[in-house]
Amino acid sequence: AKMNAITNIVHYNDKLGEKIRRQRKLVRDLEVALKVKSLNLFYQPQIDLKSGQIIGYEALARWNHPTLGSIRPDEFIMLAEQSGLIHELGKWAIFQACSDVTHLPDGSCIAVNISAIQLLDKSLPHIIREALVQNKLAAERLELEITETALIQENNTAMELMHKIKSLGVKIALDDFGTGYASFEVLKTFPFDKIKLDRSFVDDMTSSYESRAIVDASIQLAKNLNISILVEGVEDQAQLNELRKMGSDEAQGYYIGRPVSLADLSSDHLTTQEK
Ligand code: C2E
Ligand code: CA
Ligand code: CA
Repeated sequence: AKMNAITNIVHYNDKLGEKIRRQRKLVRDLEVALKVKSLNLFYQPQIDLKSGQIIGYEALARWNHPTLGSIRPDEFIMLAEQSGLIHELGKWAIFQACSDVTHLPDGSCIAVNISAIQLLDKSLPHIIREALVQNKLAAERLELEITETALIQENNTAMELMHKIKSLGVKIALDDFGTGYASFEVLKTFPFDKIKLDRSFVDDMTSSYESRAIVDASIQLAKNLNISILVEGVEDQAQLNELRKMGSDEAQGYYIGRPVSLADLSSDHLTTQEK
């Protein structure tokens, strides 16, 4: 038994070592990928539920590693945050998205994910302004998606930056609404333009009374706060119909459109319109 325990510990250490080695390698390779600009942004459509028209796209980072294949954003974003590379990555995403959106239909918006750590960087408003100016992009076409974790950690800086960014005319959405610990507190304190209801609620909305009630209440909450609401993770027609009935402003999800490259988007956006 004792030998067994030792073998287990050795095995555990091996596994841990392997994981750490992989992460170290990924961080080194991510730094290179950012330098040679080999990351990509994919775009997922967001529709207006009244008209059925695409009104915007969320930019989602993709990394195709030269030897390991595609790495999930959850993994490389976390590593970027831990290593500090998130500043570089975030800046790249803002500039790339602002440039890409000029190839998309007139008037469509682009939503860029901003990490908690970027919201503590005082140069963020400047970076955003530069990206808008360089691409001659109207500020109304850019939206930032921020999760609440960004806001509870150090809320003075975050508040100051949010106001600066909003004064440029850029909109700000609260991402993954309902999954954090302080959703209401954050909505009460910070000047959001939009709620993005997390996809976990729409998932079983048609079978779970509780989820349905939460979706419904979130839609009413947005209305009462006079801000807009987008429901994420719509995967079938039944959910789409239900959300329309409940009065959600916008929706996003695989059923409406998967995230695709800019090239694929430009070639098929006409066929995916009107659902
Ligand atoms: P998120 O911001 O909540 O983005 C939505 C995620 O849900 C995306 O995963 C998207 O592909 C996925 N999704 C969209 N529709 C559906 C659906 O109908 N069903 C299901 N099951 N999933 C759906 P993805 O692309 O893997 O990104 C994961 C997370 O990585 C994002 O979650 C975001 O937090 C982060 N991320 C991605 N790109 C960036 C970036 O450029 N900067 C930062 N800071 N974070 C990013
Ligand atoms: Ca998002
Ligand atoms: Ca989300």
